[in-house]
Amino acid sequence: MIAATQSNHPLAAVSGDSPVVSALNEARTRIRQARLRITKPRIAIIESLQRHEGPISIGRIYQQMGAKNCNLVTVYRCLSAFERLDMVRRSYQHNGTCLYELTLGAQRHNHIVCKSCGATERVDYYPVGSVERMLTDRGYAQVSHVVEFFGICPKCQQTAGSSRVAPAIPPERR
Ligand SMILES: [Zn+2]
Repeated sequence: MIAATQSNHPLAAVSGDSPVVSALNEARTRIRQARLRITKPRIAIIESLQRHEGPISIGRIYQQMGAKNCNLVTVYRCLSAFERLDMVRRSYQHNGTCLYELTLGAQRHNHIVCKSCGATERVDYYPVGSVERMLTDRGYAQVSHVVEFFGICPKCQQTAGSSRVAPAIPPERR
Protein backbone atom coordinates (compact mmCIF):
# COMPACT_ATOMS: atom_id res chain seq x y z
CA MET A 1 0.00 0.00 0.00
CA ILE A 2 1.19 3.49 -0.80
CA ALA A 3 1.14 5.91 2.09
CA ALA A 4 -0.69 9.18 1.60
CA THR A 5 1.74 12.00 0.96
CA GLN A 6 -0.69 14.82 1.66
CA SER A 7 -1.50 16.12 5.11
CA ASN A 8 -3.78 13.94 7.17
CA HIS A 9 -4.89 16.80 9.31
CA PRO A 10 -8.70 16.95 9.08
CA LEU A 11 -8.66 20.71 8.68
CA ALA A 12 -5.73 20.84 6.25
CA ALA A 13 -6.19 23.72 3.86
CA VAL A 14 -6.34 23.07 0.15
CA SER A 15 -3.12 24.38 -1.31
CA GLY A 16 -1.94 25.04 -4.85
CA ASP A 17 -3.44 27.15 -7.56
CA SER A 18 -7.11 28.01 -7.45
CA PRO A 19 -8.82 24.67 -6.81
CA VAL A 20 -12.19 26.38 -7.42
CA VAL A 21 -11.37 27.24 -11.02
CA SER A 22 -9.68 23.93 -11.77
CA ALA A 23 -12.60 21.92 -10.36
CA LEU A 24 -15.05 23.87 -12.52
CA ASN A 25 -12.87 23.32 -15.60
CA GLU A 26 -12.59 19.64 -14.79
CA ALA A 27 -16.39 19.48 -14.44
CA ARG A 28 -16.87 21.13 -17.87
CA THR A 29 -14.43 18.64 -19.41
CA ARG A 30 -16.20 15.63 -17.93
CA ILE A 31 -19.64 16.90 -18.95
CA ARG A 32 -18.39 17.41 -22.52
CA GLN A 33 -16.68 14.01 -22.59
CA ALA A 34 -19.97 12.41 -21.56
CA ARG A 35 -21.56 14.19 -24.55
CA LEU A 36 -23.83 16.16 -22.28
CA ARG A 37 -24.54 19.83 -22.76
CA ILE A 38 -23.07 22.42 -20.44
CA THR A 39 -26.26 24.06 -19.25
CA LYS A 40 -26.82 26.92 -16.83
CA PRO A 41 -28.42 24.69 -14.17
CA ARG A 42 -25.55 22.18 -14.39
CA ILE A 43 -22.95 24.91 -13.84
CA ALA A 44 -25.06 26.52 -11.10
CA ILE A 45 -25.25 23.19 -9.24
CA ILE A 46 -21.49 22.70 -9.45
CA GLU A 47 -20.94 26.24 -8.19
CA SER A 48 -23.35 25.65 -5.34
CA LEU A 49 -21.51 22.46 -4.37
CA GLN A 50 -18.21 24.35 -4.54
CA ARG A 51 -19.43 27.16 -2.32
CA HIS A 52 -20.45 24.71 0.37
CA GLU A 53 -17.55 22.97 2.02
CA GLY A 54 -18.70 19.45 2.82
CA PRO A 55 -21.85 17.52 1.91
CA ILE A 56 -25.05 19.44 1.17
CA SER A 57 -28.68 18.41 0.72
CA ILE A 58 -30.56 18.66 -2.58
CA GLY A 59 -33.04 21.07 -1.00
CA ARG A 60 -30.22 23.35 0.06
CA ILE A 61 -28.64 23.31 -3.41
CA TYR A 62 -31.98 24.17 -4.94
CA GLN A 63 -32.43 27.00 -2.44
CA GLN A 64 -28.95 28.40 -3.19
CA MET A 65 -29.62 28.34 -6.91
CA GLY A 66 -32.56 30.62 -6.29
CA ALA A 67 -34.64 28.59 -8.77
CA LYS A 68 -32.90 30.31 -11.69
CA ASN A 69 -34.02 28.50 -14.82
CA CYS A 70 -34.31 25.34 -12.83
CA ASN A 71 -36.77 23.13 -11.01
CA LEU A 72 -36.18 20.54 -8.32
CA VAL A 73 -36.49 17.61 -10.75
CA THR A 74 -33.65 19.10 -12.82
CA VAL A 75 -31.46 19.27 -9.72
CA TYR A 76 -32.17 15.58 -9.00
CA ARG A 77 -31.40 14.59 -12.59
CA CYS A 78 -28.21 16.66 -12.76
CA LEU A 79 -26.88 15.22 -9.51
CA SER A 80 -27.66 11.70 -10.65
CA ALA A 81 -25.76 12.37 -13.91
CA PHE A 82 -22.85 13.91 -11.97
CA GLU A 83 -22.74 10.82 -9.78
CA ARG A 84 -22.45 8.57 -12.84
CA LEU A 85 -19.60 10.78 -14.06
CA ASP A 86 -17.89 10.40 -10.67
CA MET A 87 -18.08 14.14 -10.05
CA VAL A 88 -20.10 13.99 -6.86
CA ARG A 89 -20.33 11.61 -3.96
CA ARG A 90 -23.55 10.77 -2.18
CA SER A 91 -23.61 10.44 1.60
CA TYR A 92 -26.26 10.18 4.27
CA GLN A 93 -27.10 11.80 7.55
CA HIS A 94 -28.05 9.48 10.40
CA ASN A 95 -31.72 10.37 9.76
CA GLY A 96 -31.38 9.14 6.18
CA THR A 97 -31.22 12.54 4.45
CA CYS A 98 -29.22 12.25 1.26
CA LEU A 99 -26.34 14.68 0.80
CA TYR A 100 -24.04 15.43 -2.11
CA GLU A 101 -20.48 16.63 -2.23
CA LEU A 102 -18.21 17.58 -5.10
CA THR A 103 -15.38 15.08 -5.43
CA LEU A 104 -13.57 16.83 -8.28
CA GLY A 105 -10.06 17.83 -7.34
CA ALA A 106 -10.60 16.63 -3.78
CA GLN A 107 -8.80 13.82 -2.07
CA ARG A 108 -11.19 10.99 -1.22
CA HIS A 109 -12.30 11.24 2.37
CA ASN A 110 -15.07 10.44 4.85
CA HIS A 111 -17.00 12.63 7.25
CA ILE A 112 -17.93 12.59 10.88
CA VAL A 113 -21.40 14.06 11.45
CA CYS A 114 -22.55 15.34 14.84
CA LYS A 115 -25.83 13.65 15.79
CA SER A 116 -26.80 16.62 17.89
CA CYS A 117 -26.02 19.76 15.87
CA GLY A 118 -25.42 18.25 12.43
CA ALA A 119 -21.94 19.76 12.07
CA THR A 120 -19.79 17.88 9.59
CA GLU A 121 -16.06 17.52 9.73
CA ARG A 122 -13.87 15.99 7.12
CA VAL A 123 -11.90 12.85 7.98
CA ASP A 124 -8.96 12.56 5.63
CA TYR A 125 -7.82 9.14 6.80
CA TYR A 126 -9.29 7.01 4.04
CA PRO A 127 -8.51 3.30 4.40
CA VAL A 128 -11.58 2.30 2.35
CA GLY A 129 -9.75 3.35 -0.81
CA SER A 130 -7.55 0.27 -0.63
CA VAL A 131 -10.63 -2.00 -0.38
CA GLU A 132 -12.07 -0.34 -3.50
CA ARG A 133 -8.79 -0.89 -5.33
CA MET A 134 -8.76 -4.54 -4.27
CA LEU A 135 -12.29 -5.05 -5.60
CA THR A 136 -11.39 -3.27 -8.84
CA ASP A 137 -8.44 -5.64 -9.16
CA ARG A 138 -10.88 -8.53 -8.73
CA GLY A 139 -12.66 -7.28 -11.82
CA TYR A 140 -15.50 -5.21 -10.39
CA ALA A 141 -16.38 -2.01 -12.24
CA GLN A 142 -17.91 1.20 -10.86
CA VAL A 143 -17.15 0.15 -7.29
CA SER A 144 -18.73 2.44 -4.72
CA HIS A 145 -19.39 2.34 -1.00
CA VAL A 146 -21.21 4.11 1.80
CA VAL A 147 -19.27 4.76 5.01
CA GLU A 148 -20.50 7.41 7.40
CA PHE A 149 -19.33 8.20 10.91
CA PHE A 150 -21.69 9.70 13.46
CA GLY A 151 -20.99 11.03 16.94
CA ILE A 152 -21.57 13.90 19.33
CA CYS A 153 -19.13 16.74 18.66
CA PRO A 154 -16.97 18.16 21.51
CA LYS A 155 -18.89 21.45 21.41
CA CYS A 156 -22.26 19.75 21.91
CA GLN A 157 -20.83 17.67 24.75
CA GLN A 158 -19.67 20.85 26.47
CA THR A 159 -23.03 22.54 26.00
CA ALA A 160 -25.25 19.75 27.22
CA GLY A 161 -23.01 17.40 29.16
CA SER A 162 -22.26 14.15 27.38
CA SER A 163 -24.67 12.00 29.43
CA ARG A 164 -27.65 14.22 28.64
CA VAL A 165 -27.05 14.62 24.92
CA ALA A 166 -29.88 13.05 23.00
CA PRO A 167 -29.61 12.52 19.27
CA ALA A 168 -31.72 15.11 17.53
CA ILE A 169 -32.57 15.67 13.92
CA PRO A 170 -29.85 18.06 12.79
CA PRO A 171 -30.92 21.34 11.24
CA GLU A 172 -30.42 21.86 7.53
CA ARG A 173 -26.82 22.86 7.09
CA ARG A 174 -25.80 26.23 5.75
ZN1 LIG B 1 -22.53 19.04 17.56
